[in-house]
Amino acid sequence: MLKPDIRDILTMPGDGTEIIVEGWIRTKRESKGVTFLEVNDGSSIRNLQIVIEENLSDYGSMVRDLNTGASITVEGILTDSPGTGQVVELKARKIDMRGAAPADYALQKKRHTLEFLREIAHLRPRTNSFGAVARVRSALSFAIHRYFQERGFIYVHTPIITGSDCEGAGEMFQVTTLPLDQVPLQNGRVDFSQDFFGKRALLTVSGQLEGEAYACALKKIYTFGPTFRAENSNTSRHLAEFWMIEPEMAFCDIHGNMDVAEEFLRYIFRYILENCPNDMDFFNEKISPGLIENLNAIIQSSFQRISYTEAVEQLLKSKASFEFPLSWGVDLQSEHEKFLTEKIYARPVIITDYPKEIKAFYMKMNEDDKTVRAMDILVPRLGEIVGGSERESDYEKLKQRISGYGLNPDDYWWYLELRRFGTVPHSGFGLGFERTMQFVTGMQNIRDVIPFPRTVKSLEF
Ligand code: ATP
Ligand code: MN
Repeated sequence: MLKPDIRDILTMPGDGTEIIVEGWIRTKRESKGVTFLEVNDGSSIRNLQIVIEENLSDYGSMVRDLNTGASITVEGILTDSPGTGQVVELKARKIDMRGAAPADYALQKKRHTLEFLREIAHLRPRTNSFGAVARVRSALSFAIHRYFQERGFIYVHTPIITGSDCEGAGEMFQVTTLPLDQVPLQNGRVDFSQDFFGKRALLTVSGQLEGEAYACALKKIYTFGPTFRAENSNTSRHLAEFWMIEPEMAFCDIHGNMDVAEEFLRYIFRYILENCPNDMDFFNEKISPGLIENLNAIIQSSFQRISYTEAVEQLLKSKASFEFPLSWGVDLQSEHEKFLTEKIYARPVIITDYPKEIKAFYMKMNEDDKTVRAMDILVPRLGEIVGGSERESDYEKLKQRISGYGLNPDDYWWYLELRRFGTVPHSGFGLGFERTMQFVTGMQNIRDVIPFPRTVKSLEF
């Protein structure tokens, strides 16, 4: 007998075909002589209605146990549904209770807050919202791979444990097998020579540097993997463990970089609208009204490209009052980013040519000696979702920049060698996968677009 997914059953004709359905009970409705179940198997946001008539053997005792949350297998025949709200329904012939769900099952009929559901991260995928998030997350991952694979980019797996601090910033987790209650010391400092790798090891914050090595051989590459930042900031846009997509392209300057980033974002947004219509309708109705219209507008519009200097001028000219005062040279805060993309331009904005002091050492310096060829993409509601740049491809200039950041060029010997042998202009960017998920689904909090979020002081699951 066929055992189709509910997603597929809902498109089948109600012609009396015998099928088997497996899933979890969402609701039960008893009326005279008949009981209706709504069953969901995760393949769709939509449920299948099961009709149980009282002539089924053990009707009374069985129906009593068919509670919200229980898992069941149902054998029955698919018929056209006389009721409204569904096209087909399953007339049960035989029901097997696989796993009961007693009354203390947390997900009873009423709607729960997202905050409450965060505390039951192991059960929340059984709700409409988190089922939809999981399906869109999967489809979005696929769309990302498809975009790059169709264009000949090579998928590179960069390491998760690293010996180098890519951005030269703090914010990194350490990896060690040293006994923390008895750390070996030498001259009062931790003796990492006794540690597993014989040196200090960290969890990566970005696969970019290793990605560059592969781009300088395979021309077009991308990474898509987990990254880690010991962000102490408790915001709705930061996780300690998140996924990042980092394309890197040789023979490509900052303009080519922006073109790819823009085309790529439009492609993945369109893919989700076309391939996840039911889930997107749900987000549009229940989570973020206007979501689909906004995404469609972005797919059709081109992004506004301005320099950092212009952005600061526009913000100052607007006379808007900000919590963080603004002047040339300071980093844009999320309130500034949102103002630019929501109020001033009303579309995604790409900001280029940031002051060198607020960007990483590897970015290519402009002729003015003050700004670098960075490009950040800002979107409404979120602010930054992409950070990218053209990389410094000149050996001497890069070496100077590394020293200028108080870093030791010896630690970057292999990265510098890429500029000694067959160096080439190259560019790339990092797209935060969860920020993209937030943007596509309209979910407000980044903790709700990843299955088991890791944030400061939170590691229950
Ligand atoms: P922000 O200023 O928002 O903290 P960033 O400048 O630290 O971002 P990059 O280092 O450029 O970000 O990282 C590339 C992308 O990764 C960002 O554009 C963003 O989409 C995402 N990202 C950065 N930090 C986090 C985080 N802690 N959690 C989730 N996504 C992140
Ligand atoms: Mn950051």
